[in-house]
Amino acid sequence: MKALVKFAHEDGALEVRDLPDPVAGPGTVLVRVHTVGVCGSDIHMWHDSQSASSKGVLPVTLGHESAGVVAAIGPDVTGWSIGDRVVCETAASICGVCALCRSGRYNLCPWREGYGLKRDGAMAEYVVAEPRVLHRIPEGVSYEAAATTEPYAVAYNAVVERAGVKPGQLVVVQGAGAIGVNALQIALLAGAGTTVVLGTDVDEHRLERATGLGAHHVVNVQREDAGALLATLHDGLGADLVVDATGVSAALQQSMELVRPGGAIAKVGWGPQPLGFTLDPLVKKAVTLYGCYSHTWTTWESVLRLFASGRLHPEAIIGGAYPIEEWETAFGAMQRGDNVKSVLRMPFGLETEGAGKTGRAGEAGRAREGAR
Ligand SMILES: [Zn+2]
Ligand SMILES: [Zn+2]
Repeated sequence: MKALVKFAHEDGALEVRDLPDPVAGPGTVLVRVHTVGVCGSDIHMWHDSQSASSKGVLPVTLGHESAGVVAAIGPDVTGWSIGDRVVCETAASICGVCALCRSGRYNLCPWREGYGLKRDGAMAEYVVAEPRVLHRIPEGVSYEAAATTEPYAVAYNAVVERAGVKPGQLVVVQGAGAIGVNALQIALLAGAGTTVVLGTDVDEHRLERATGLGAHHVVNVQREDAGALLATLHDGLGADLVVDATGVSAALQQSMELVRPGGAIAKVGWGPQPLGFTLDPLVKKAVTLYGCYSHTWTTWESVLRLFASGRLHPEAIIGGAYPIEEWETAFGAMQRGDNVKSVLRMPFGLETEGAGKTGRAGEAGRAREGAR
């Protein structure tokens, strides 16, 4: 099978390789991948600019935002059938017995091994999965939409499970990439009174997209002063919650400026860069700083229910669908900010998509045209 493999810790050391088809061993199923999303973390892996704790093992097949169909079932698996439409959580392997696993917080298991990092991921024709990570794709939800469950789960975890946004609050989202735009949508669903999305010059299209998705204000921080805008919103004291979805460590300084006394910062974006500023504003304002990492079973089910009920519109963030051979185009379009989210269409996806063979047609192509 074809797979997109990172083979060295160097910028650009990524290529499509022919690998043997994996087999469903005891206690696992084989998922035939239809569509897989490109994550900001995949782009870091491409450039080898990921955080030190995300170095992983090499070679490794990238991809942790997949949707597909159960293609084979290994021994000792019950409850699943060939043909079931599924998405896979990212925690390919956990220990299952540590205090965190046993208390349902397996996203924090010290022995967790994620797809596309320590375990071969889903930018391949097939991926092996333990039934523990499978969720059924609800009827009426496309594979393409389902492939975005993971980035929505990240946003849901940060905004709802960690920070607990309340109706009427002022929420600032730093970063207009997929996680930022998803955090905006979740904050709106949670009842945020006013939402502000911050971006830079590279985010021009993405800020437009955020406006289309209901952001009350968008700010290009290279041209406008976010603090001045916040002084005019609500009581002028700042944001109840700032969501940092940037992947730039220094964004924390701006978070501390924009958050109100007694407010909270949810830090989702990674950033390996060391910092050179004081954290005193956290103390002076008595700010709660949440680190937000990954998600669990209930997060995924919640997001899938929101897709099924039509209250989240994942198609709106997908800028283009590309065959695996065009991965560099897909990654580049996200890096440049042309696409909020690119997805790769695997051979199964191309077969069933018909007109999708060019990589641009089908649902994603329509979403792209409709949104511009
Ligand atoms: Zn992701
Ligand atoms: Zn564990």
